Amino acid sequence: MLPCQKSVTMTQKLKIFDTTLRDGEQAPDNTFSIEQKVQIALALESLGVDTIEAGFPMSSSVDYQATKLIAKQIKESSVCALARTKKEDIDRAAEALEGAMLPSLHMFIATSPIHMQYKLRLSPGEVLEKISESISYAKKRISNIIFGFEDATRSDYDFLSSAVRTATDAGASSITIADTVGFYLPEQYGSLIKRLSQKYEDDINIGTHCHNDLGLATANTLAGIYNGASEVQVTVNGIGERAGNTSLEEVAAALHTRKDYFEREFSIDLARIYETSKLVYQILGRTPSHEKAIVGENAFRHEAGIHQNGLKKEPTTYEIIDPTLVGREREFVYGRHSGREVCRRLGINK
Ligand code: MN
Repeated sequence: MLPCQKSVTMTQKLKIFDTTLRDGEQAPDNTFSIEQKVQIALALESLGVDTIEAGFPMSSSVDYQATKLIAKQIKESSVCALARTKKEDIDRAAEALEGAMLPSLHMFIATSPIHMQYKLRLSPGEVLEKISESISYAKKRISNIIFGFEDATRSDYDFLSSAVRTATDAGASSITIADTVGFYLPEQYGSLIKRLSQKYEDDINIGTHCHNDLGLATANTLAGIYNGASEVQVTVNGIGERAGNTSLEEVAAALHTRKDYFEREFSIDLARIYETSKLVYQILGRTPSHEKAIVGENAFRHEAGIHQNGLKKEPTTYEIIDPTLVGREREFVYGRHSGREVCRRLGINK
């Protein structure tokens, strides 16, 4: 069971922010060409994501060019670019987004003592100043600003809370609570989202950003949704730094399958989940592990006789998701674990 009691109005649509082309691409071996980034962006638009984070324009000319092309071609989703709190990053990102119908800027700064002391070498006061100054500067160019707190889950709560207030006062449209290193447990992450959303009530939209270092990215994201998050950052196939980010397909399937629990609307076209997953794997030259939820080879394959027998009588005996819902098919595989009668007919030795 997920922790905490549901306390927010759940009628608000949950926004899906896809960062396959930014966080996903940032991991080793995941580099996409400009053409591949555009191809994936178009697939994400067809899938129905609310926001496509196209890249980090300051990081390379490829990311800049790709973001520019994506901004011009995407009409239905918001196109987002990443920037640090530096003016040159913001200018470069804003320039790349010039042709976008619905531009958004994703800025971030770390708020944990570890990151502030060792990486940023900034005092907490200086971090607050940077938040405020950078958002005020960026607001002149782009109105929709998402401000992310890196390593939020290892930050002091009171400091994080004042950083949230600073970002909101400066004009951020939404904020993101990042479990950058995949450290938190679902109960903790849910409580943090709940605490912040209760404190700021209608003032802010809170987004999630979770990593999978302990295999908990999807669980943490779902705990965030249950406790009041209004946006989730996800990637196709869960690609991302180290052990990955939150899987778009897992979150979408969980929200649909357990709508009795979450009661949240979202706009993903579930039938396109599998083809989008395959496209990304194909471009990466990889395949999912057999057991990967929703998109793995074995997610809807059955060999055991008892299971095949149950499924033939009633599919819900062993499947909680109708495979066609996510663009897949059920498959029976016959082998040593299948029923005696089938094995005899097929000449399989038991
Ligand atoms: Mn990340």
